[in-house]
Amino acid sequence: MSQGKAVIFCAPSGAGKTTIVRELVKRLPELKFSISATTRPPRPEEENGKDYFFLSKEEFEKKEADGELFEWQEVYKGTYYGTLKSEVERIWMAGNQVIFDIDVVGGSNLKKRLGDQSLAIFVNAESVDVLRERLTKRNTETPESLEKRINKAVEEMAFEPKFDYTLINRDLQEAISEAERVVKAFLK
Ligand code: 5GP
Repeated sequence: MSQGKAVIFCAPSGAGKTTIVRELVKRLPELKFSISATTRPPRPEEENGKDYFFLSKEEFEKKEADGELFEWQEVYKGTYYGTLKSEVERIWMAGNQVIFDIDVVGGSNLKKRLGDQSLAIFVNAESVDVLRERLTKRNTETPESLEKRINKAVEEMAFEPKFDYTLINRDLQEAISEAERVVKAFLK
């Protein structure tokens, strides 16, 4: 695979990572978002091929068996998420740099693999209570999936030391500016 730079964004669910990643992509044109494959159903505002490639479990398993995935994780029980090799290749081949929005396990594995070629940023909220409040407000979860995500967030916080940089998201605009500064310095 041709080699470019990679920015890896990970966070416990609800820390605001996806918003930061979307804004960074708008501000830094050489940074392209790697669209992952997933077996979870799309949320109402999500589009296939833009937010994710939404696949059936069978389709996902076939991609894995055919060696088409750069990395993958069963992020929630029975729900798979994976980075497509074709996405990363497409971005690097065009002379751009790739930005990943992936789970902490996938992210720390990628950091190990890509080393200095990558910058791994851990986005965190100030506390678990703040996370709970944000996830509740987002209104995309059922009570069961909300609890599942919060329990997982607590486990995910333990991965923070494996990352190059921790970004505490107290104020979204400030967090975006800080992310932009750090990522720009890395891409230079
Ligand atoms: P959501 O369902 O909220 O879109 O994503 C759930 C979690 O899966 C998030 O932490 C998200 O970053 C992660 N995720 C999304 N795509 C991938 C991927 O390709 N690989 C891995 N390992 N995690 C992913």
